[in-house]
Amino acid sequence: MSEESDSDDGANAEAVDVEANAGDVDTDVEDDGTDGPRRAFWADEVADEIEARGPEEPIVIKGGVSPSGVAHLGNFNEIMRGYFVAEVLRERGHEVRQVFTSDDRDPLRKLPRKLADVDGNIVGLGDVDAGALGRNLGKPYTDIPDPFGESESYAAHFAALLKADADRLGIEVEMLSNTEMYEGGEFDEVVAHVLEDLDVAREVLSEYQSKIDDDYVPFNPICENCGKITEAVTSVDVDAGTVEYVCTDMTVGDETIEGCGHEGTATFREGKLPWRFEWPAQWQILGVDFEPFGKDHAEGSWPSGEDIARNVLGVEPPVPMVYEWFTLNGEALSSSAGNVVTVAEMLELLEPEVLRYFFALNPRKARDFDVSRLDQFVDDFDRFERAYFGDVDDESLSAFAERAYPFVVDDVREERVRLPYTFAAVLGMTDDRDLRIEMARNEGYFDDDTPEWAIEEALERVDRARAWAEREDNEYNYRIQEDLPDADFDADVAAALDELADFVEAGHDGEAIQGEMYETARRHDVEVGDFFEAGYLLFFDQPQGPRLGEFLGELDTEFVVARLRRES
Ligand SMILES: [Zn+2]
Repeated sequence: MSEESDSDDGANAEAVDVEANAGDVDTDVEDDGTDGPRRAFWADEVADEIEARGPEEPIVIKGGVSPSGVAHLGNFNEIMRGYFVAEVLRERGHEVRQVFTSDDRDPLRKLPRKLADVDGNIVGLGDVDAGALGRNLGKPYTDIPDPFGESESYAAHFAALLKADADRLGIEVEMLSNTEMYEGGEFDEVVAHVLEDLDVAREVLSEYQSKIDDDYVPFNPICENCGKITEAVTSVDVDAGTVEYVCTDMTVGDETIEGCGHEGTATFREGKLPWRFEWPAQWQILGVDFEPFGKDHAEGSWPSGEDIARNVLGVEPPVPMVYEWFTLNGEALSSSAGNVVTVAEMLELLEPEVLRYFFALNPRKARDFDVSRLDQFVDDFDRFERAYFGDVDDESLSAFAERAYPFVVDDVREERVRLPYTFAAVLGMTDDRDLRIEMARNEGYFDDDTPEWAIEEALERVDRARAWAEREDNEYNYRIQEDLPDADFDADVAAALDELADFVEAGHDGEAIQGEMYETARRHDVEVGDFFEAGYLLFFDQPQGPRLGEFLGELDTEFVVARLRRES
């Protein structure tokens, strides 16, 4: 659940115990103080708690965010955490409705530094009509034009991005617009209830928020003159279902969003509850049984939400679950600072199941999503997968995999082949499909019994690892030259290359070739560095590259021999 203000997941990042290693799979479930059995998968524990309350069917699981600059991977905690709980409950025979509210009646309080276009690509403010955004500060997201000029509003653009990402991950979630719910009258009753007894509302809220005086009214009408959300209600008529207001200035941090001074009347459908009331109001309207939220809310609006639900609205709050934020490349995720990554971007580098796995890990543990070390993370996923099939000697991992794995993949298929990610990155150095398959065969990943579909799926990882190598420009970002590059070598180097060709032709593995390169160079009185450079020029047309001997060991022998002899 996001906060009313432009919620960046990084606000409290200093307090997060960041792990250096993204892939450290800690599946331990901490003692949550309940007496229930210790479960291998946290979603089972949550499901136990929900069941213990005897919920009505369908069980409702909610997530939500306020539209901000970029619908980023961190926002997906709101969908993915609920997804696993929903799936566990469905497996237990319950009917489950997973909903996601776009809190789109919230006002735009400041300009985002980054936005995501309709394809999920992150762009700067310079690429859109930023002036139009600036003129709309203080207005609800649903009343602000889409900066890309495509959807009907800023909010619709943002919600479409989230929906598209959920589809990409294969998650079915019902998207709800707060504005539509207000306009459709779904909030009417609860707004009337809150405004009926202002003393109670003020008293409960004052425990959590300062400056709650006798004039405070928990309703923010939209100014009919300038369209901005206003904060000064001067009188309430519950029977008529209206409030009177003055459009005054709104303070956001050090900035002031100017009001127009208009005095007007608004219905309960023409405004919104402040966030601390709106959240529990959503629980009541939608009958929410479970909602995960970030740790900012654990200290902020959850305690007040719980209190308001019970003591103002008279309803039971949902089962809560606090998830830790993750950091991206060691830094707090932040839309405003631009340290974000989208689901669409990540799916260029990872299979959907690998990304789903990230959210299946213990939500109580802070993690770093380190794109530069994505290989380690994928290795962890592969290990998790093997654990499900009983191939890993790790009791705790196996127990976790046994429960979580079937919810992570679309189909459980034991014949599936996973090429290690770094090896896939090596294969990505050539576009030649046959050569890729040949190299994978040489390494023993494919054999005559490997089904065609498994080869196809395994090769999809090659394209993703290739994209990773290019994005990170790391040690795998090289291209095998299919034609002999134009390079001249002096006699000593040429003789050494010929001798190495003979060695490779005789049949040796990569490690032996790597060792032999040093020996060959020495025998011919060639500097080792010069010899490797000659090899890189021949294979990559560049003076540097990956560990060459081992790399050559994975290529087709005939191709390597001919290239070392400068024949083709
Ligand atoms: Zn106004």
